[in-house]
Amino acid sequence: MTTPLSKTVEPTVSDSLPFSPDSIGSSLNAPRVLFLDHTGALGGAELYLLDLVRQYPGDCRVLLFDDGPFATRLENENISTRVLQGSSQLLNVRKDGGIGTALTASLGLLQLVGPVAREAQNADVIFANSQKAAIVASLAGHWARRPVVWSLHDILTADHFSRLNRWAAVTAANWGVTHLLANSKATEDAFKTSGGRTPSTVVYNGIDADDFPPLAPDRIQSLRMELDVPLNVPVAGVFSRLAPWKGQAVLLQALPAVPDLHALFVGDALFDGDTQYVDELKSLARDLGVVDRVHFAGFRSDIPALMQAVDVVAHTSTSPEPFGRVIVEGMLAKRPVVATRAGGAMEIVTHGRTGLLVSAGDASELGRALSHLLSHPEAAERMAAAGHADARERFALDGMVQSISDLLRRVVDEETELNPK
Ligand code: UDP
Repeated sequence: MTTPLSKTVEPTVSDSLPFSPDSIGSSLNAPRVLFLDHTGALGGAELYLLDLVRQYPGDCRVLLFDDGPFATRLENENISTRVLQGSSQLLNVRKDGGIGTALTASLGLLQLVGPVAREAQNADVIFANSQKAAIVASLAGHWARRPVVWSLHDILTADHFSRLNRWAAVTAANWGVTHLLANSKATEDAFKTSGGRTPSTVVYNGIDADDFPPLAPDRIQSLRMELDVPLNVPVAGVFSRLAPWKGQAVLLQALPAVPDLHALFVGDALFDGDTQYVDELKSLARDLGVVDRVHFAGFRSDIPALMQAVDVVAHTSTSPEPFGRVIVEGMLAKRPVVATRAGGAMEIVTHGRTGLLVSAGDASELGRALSHLLSHPEAAERMAAAGHADARERFALDGMVQSISDLLRRVVDEETELNPK
């Protein structure tokens, strides 16, 4: 698990839209949901949850273990949100942590079980959106006698998590999670390989295609000027938080072999262990002699527009990506995508038809794929059009919300049959 950048957090409570106690069966028969997440940072999992709660057809409330931009976005959207102050032990646990950190983290987690169980009394189901949230939910669900659905956004392999961490996640799931929602087949497979026995369903992230209206050429030009990217050069963009496994370094290493190509990095380090990485990237760019062709934009909220300001959207993760929202977003922006041949990316891209797949961490192969797309603009355009059509069909946001709402309804009905109140 990753640790949000540390900062002083005071608990904040927004009670503007509490659950309506008598609303079971209302709002298209959608159950009342308590959504749980451990972080206030805005990673892909939190952007997914934001989309889900915005469109969820029933009553819901979001409970977070930490404050931050995610909480602010939820509150700005008038979504009932409460931030529980987490224990410092809990918020300091690292994904590669050993037994000592695990024990202190467990104490921190236990402190959250009571408050979550109390909130869950007003819901029909608890929906955990992160591993720490799932561990707390597995205990709180027993206490409150509510089913728990865990939306798993991580590939539980040694690439990403320590053995202890995987054991804790799978044990919590097997013991206290009613149903697992995996964001890809790759995520579901890794869960099962790690010993997970919870019944599971794969539901891909849905992305709202309406957020990607085509941009006028003058708007694209002004975006490039704002980013200090020359107007008449080819640009490949990586739109991910800055973290070593997201592979921004691989694109840098590909640049010397692709003359004139510029790289645009959009995203920031979201978690503690990753803050050095941006300096490492800058020094690598200097060493490779490509510093004039590299641009850092920091974290941005206008991804659909920025993707249209580049010629190719590159996904460069060096470890299997659990899903890869940015790949779908690149397709919706009608840009050709090059992605790493691993994990969820392989379920999104059909190589040669809707994008190109390259071996993880292979800068030469990435360079060849980028050169190919830039020197064959008609083929690149065909690929982008096929990707666009495919993404609209397979990754629609309303389809995702419908599938999840149906699943939650089923889980609640089955629980009621098993344990009538
Ligand atoms: N993103 C963003 N601003 C940035 C960089 C990324 O909003 O500056 C978004 C991006 O558009 C995508 C999400 O962050 O929706 C990343 O999700 P993904 O599944 O690609 O990776 P994760 O962060 O979940 O590992």
